[in-house]
Amino acid sequence: MAAWKLVDSGADVLMLERGPFVERGPHNWEPEGTVMRTPYYTEGPHYEANTDRGNSEAGVCSCVGGASVFYGGVSLRFRETDFLPRPEIVGDSGARWPFSYDTLEPYYGEAERILDVAGRAGEDPTEPPRTSDYPCPPSGLSEVSRIIAKAAEARGLHPFRLPLAINYQNSGSAPTCIECATCDTFACKIEAKNDIAVKVLRGLVERGLELRANIAVTGLHLDGRRVAGVECVDRTTGETEVLTADRIILAAGALGSAHLLLASRLAESNPAGDAVGRYLTRHCSAIVFGAYPWLPKHERHFHKQIGINDYYLGDPDGKGPKGPLGNIQQTQTPSMGTVRGELNWFLGSLVAPLARRITGLLVIAEDRPQHRNRVVLDPSGTDELGLPRLRIEHRYDPRDLEARRFLAGRAKRIHRAAGSLVGYTHVIDTFSHALGTVRMGDDPERAPVDRDGRFRGVDNLYVTDGSILPTPAAVNPSLTISANALRIGHMIAEDLRREGIT
Ligand SMILES: Cc1cc2nc3c(=O)[nH]c(=O)nc-3n(C[C@H](O)[C@H](O)[C@H](O)COP(=O)(O)OP(=O)(O)OC[C@H]3O[C@@H](n4cnc5c(N)ncnc54)[C@H](O)[C@@H]3O)c2cc1C
Ligand code: SF4
Repeated sequence: MAAWKLVDSGADVLMLERGPFVERGPHNWEPEGTVMRTPYYTEGPHYEANTDRGNSEAGVCSCVGGASVFYGGVSLRFRETDFLPRPEIVGDSGARWPFSYDTLEPYYGEAERILDVAGRAGEDPTEPPRTSDYPCPPSGLSEVSRIIAKAAEARGLHPFRLPLAINYQNSGSAPTCIECATCDTFACKIEAKNDIAVKVLRGLVERGLELRANIAVTGLHLDGRRVAGVECVDRTTGETEVLTADRIILAAGALGSAHLLLASRLAESNPAGDAVGRYLTRHCSAIVFGAYPWLPKHERHFHKQIGINDYYLGDPDGKGPKGPLGNIQQTQTPSMGTVRGELNWFLGSLVAPLARRITGLLVIAEDRPQHRNRVVLDPSGTDELGLPRLRIEHRYDPRDLEARRFLAGRAKRIHRAAGSLVGYTHVIDTFSHALGTVRMGDDPERAPVDRDGRFRGVDNLYVTDGSILPTPAAVNPSLTISANALRIGHMIAEDLRREGIT
């Protein structure tokens, strides 16, 4: 998104991406097309993660367009209050947004237009003010979504249509969504999901962006206060190269950016160097599934349609933990193949026929940024790219877990009111919403990145990905990452224009 602004300003932009383009075809919608089974995940770097649930391996997406290619497309803005986080969330972390919602509002609108987000304004009780409407209307509601929405309303809640970066328009100029059951965690075979590869990078390359795939950055070489060389390796030939540029933008994700900064020892040049790699957040989430065996057989809509934010700012009845809690949103109904693929033969055969009659409610609780939660270099060796290995250390705060428990309880009540027969809660333990490891802020001693996206202590280095969000809010983060990257890209473009540099 930062490149969008720079290419449009006439700047000469080179993008290095360690992964390949995701091939589109029938395989995308097979059970093996779910991200964790694809080479874009299995052949990329893996980190050893030590969490409340013990030791595990955490992987990340390596492909052109990043995780957006496999995302669910939910494109919510952070709420106004998210930019003024409450003490229950901030604690002693010193996290503070350097600007208010108003600063990001025009860029949210621009990101929504670039991604053709389909939504309906005015339904969500916590929705922040907007100066532009959604560029596209949402799709029709599926039967199960209607049932969930009605049940929520009967409980006094205010369900709303989730804004989605998906093309539902039948204009003929772009593929139209066929509402399949393999969207979230799958790449879209027909490219109707408006991910960054399809909706941003393809057009940017036509407008002059040089995009080199399969090139992994392995180091940033400092000379005084400037990055003088970007060391990289071609993953197909093994050849290494050092490139130079007037301005460098790091956007390798919350794990990848911190990894490169630590491995290149740039934290040592930053007055807030201790915070580099720390304050990792990832939301405290779970999916509460319900089964609706009486739904019609033909039911096949993509079921990520309804959101509920009535508990976002807190429990109106005062029974939950004090302070903001989070969001509840539908997840898609899994395909039969996916269910069979995930379970053993016996369970798979038993549950798969029910698959089309299952819907999930994803609960996202805001987790607290904590000093102890971090990525750290592991002296035990190097990874597949030759970088020092990275280890993740993460423990939820008891409040994070309480907030999740509360939201999961409310999701169960909605399922019950909707007539669901069974309920099953699956705790999410991935780092798909990793944020915060190189946080932005006005305090030079506690925030490694300033409000303009500049990495403190290094004059020509900017960071624009999820790592710079100081707090995670409790909605899916990609639209905020996009809007903020547009904002920083705009400022860099203005700087270059003033200095007469391309
Ligand atoms: C299955 C799934 C579903 C999701 N659903 C949603 C959703 O519905 N809505 C939402 O808002 N969010 C969703 N998310 C989260 C969202 O996709 C991420 O928050 C977002 O993509 C993060 O953006 P980013 O720019 O910080 O990092 P990324 O998207 O991770 O991009 C970083 C890029 O940098 C590349 N890279 C990393 N290291 C290097 C290196 N050394 N050299 C060169 N390139 C490098 C990576 O390959 C990658 O392409 C989902 C995530 C997943 C995994
Ligand atoms: S639901 Fe629509 S956008 Fe998503 S993968 Fe299926 S066809 Fe593509």
